[in-house]
Amino acid sequence: MTEATQERSDWLQDLVESMYAKHVANHSGEIATYIPELGKADPDDFGICVVTADGRIHETGESNKTFTIQSISKPFTYGMALEAYGPDEVARHVGVEPSGDAFNSIELEPATNRPFNPMINAGAITVTALLYDYYGDEAFEQLMARFSAAAGRTLDYDESVYRSESRTGHRNRAIGHLLLNFGMVPEKIDAALELYFKQCAILVNCRDLAIMGATLSNLGNNPVTGQEVYDIDRVKDMLSIMFTCGMYDYSGQWAYKVGVPAKSGVAGGVVAVVNRQLSIASYSPRLDLRGNSCRGIDVCVDLASELGLHAFDCMNEGSSYLKALL
Ligand code: GLU
Repeated sequence: MTEATQERSDWLQDLVESMYAKHVANHSGEIATYIPELGKADPDDFGICVVTADGRIHETGESNKTFTIQSISKPFTYGMALEAYGPDEVARHVGVEPSGDAFNSIELEPATNRPFNPMINAGAITVTALLYDYYGDEAFEQLMARFSAAAGRTLDYDESVYRSESRTGHRNRAIGHLLLNFGMVPEKIDAALELYFKQCAILVNCRDLAIMGATLSNLGNNPVTGQEVYDIDRVKDMLSIMFTCGMYDYSGQWAYKVGVPAKSGVAGGVVAVVNRQLSIASYSPRLDLRGNSCRGIDVCVDLASELGLHAFDCMNEGSSYLKALL
C-alpha cells in the first residue's frame, strides 16, 4: 500500500468508526420474534463493515458476531437459479416487479400466477424450489459452497434457528402450497421449504456480508480471495432486483434516500452494494415495523450521503469516482 492509499484507508476506517459512535445510542425498534429462536439475539449488538471493490476491509463494533442471514440469502440464491436455468426460464416462474407489500404477503401476479419478485418470500421460495429441483439432495451443499465462496470462508448454519422456523413456518408453507396449486413450483415443495428454512439459517457475520456484497460490487469476483463466484451478467440481474425490491415495502423510499442496491434480513443484517466501488454491511437486530434494521438504515443513509454513493447524486461521477478517492 502506498502512503496515500494508507491515508485514504485510515480515513475510511475513521468514518466507519464515527458511524458506530453516532448510531450506537439508537435503541429504537424491536427484535423479530415470529421465528422464536431469533428472540434470543442481543438487542444491543451493533457491527459495521465496509469492504472496497479491491478488497480492503474496514470494520468496527461486533463485526465478528454471527447471526442468521435470513432474507439476505435471497439475491444470492436468485443468482444461482439464473445461472442454472437462464433468465428466461426463471422469469416464467418469478417476476421482477416490486410488490409494495410485506415480505410474507400471500399474493401472486393475477395474470401469470407468478410471485411479484424473488426478494419477497413467495418469490424466494420459488427460486429455492427451482434450485432443489436442479440439484436434488445436493442443493444445500451447493448453496453453502456458493455462499462460502462469496464470503471467502467456509460458512455454517444454525440448526436451532432452522428447526425453530421449520416448526413455526406455517405461513411460508401456505405460500409454498399455493405456488404448487398454481403449478409455479415443482412437486417436491415440502423438501424445498426445508431447504428455504435452512438457507435462511446460514450463519454470517458483518464482515462476511460485506465481502459477499463486495463480490457483487466487484462484478462477481471475490476481491479478498480472487475467486470468481458469480457470472458477471447475472450480477447485473441480482443488483437490479436488490435496487427495486431489496428493502421490503421500504424499497421505494430506500431508492429515494440511499439510492444503491441493498438487501436486509429479519435477524438484523443489511448489505448495500455500490457497483465497482464498495459494499456496506451492518448488523443490529432491532427492527422497524417493516422488518428493516433501524440502525442499519441510518448507517447506510449517512454513509451514502457522506460518500456521495446515491446512483443519482451529483457527487457520483460513476464507478471511477470513489476508486480515485479511496
Ligand atoms: N426466514 C424468514 C422468513 O421467511 C426470512 C424473512 C426475512 O428475513 O425477511 O420469514
